[in-house]
Amino acid sequence: MSGGRSWASARMKSGVYSEVDMNEVPGATLLERVVSLEKDAGEGGYFLNPDTAFVKDLVRGLIVNEMRFGYPSCPCRLGTGKKADDLDIICPCDYRDPDIDQYGACYCALYVSPSIHRGEAHAGPVPERRPPRSQRGLKTREHPSPGIPETLPYPIWRCRVCGYLCARGEPPQLCPICKAGKDRFEKFME
Ligand code: SF4
Repeated sequence: MSGGRSWASARMKSGVYSEVDMNEVPGATLLERVVSLEKDAGEGGYFLNPDTAFVKDLVRGLIVNEMRFGYPSCPCRLGTGKKADDLDIICPCDYRDPDIDQYGACYCALYVSPSIHRGEAHAGPVPERRPPRSQRGLKTREHPSPGIPETLPYPIWRCRVCGYLCARGEPPQLCPICKAGKDRFEKFME
């Protein structure tokens, strides 16, 4: 058993879907989604948990939530069924990158660091980073730039290699255009 599966499985099983729901996902649909997720992760510079059975369980949970709510909310968290309230936990959630940076895995351990993916390390428990409901969506920029609305919630990062721009809490692990590493990004606007 690898990739910190035991604690993460317990978390997933305490989630929102039942075993009956889980059994409603056809095998072909599951496989197709896993392959697609692996492809997207690879192209974006991310890595999935090396425990393929565990990944299938998580992806099955994502599909069940998608069938139930209309969007793939995190299989390890309670979704509300109201998309506006769950935007931050639609997979990949807003908390994936900082959790991978700090703990080597996302909250569910679906996405992991390169060393965990290679089997050189194991994922441990990841504390919940999602703020309480009353504090969500309150992020504001500390130093607004002239002409930029103060309501923009994230800084803008620029890839110094190819000029790719993105607005998010932290720069991506790899530039999706030129595959430059995270350390090649600079804060372009905040
Ligand atoms: S990326 Fe976020 S939403 Fe997706 S499985 Fe991991 S913790 Fe859950």
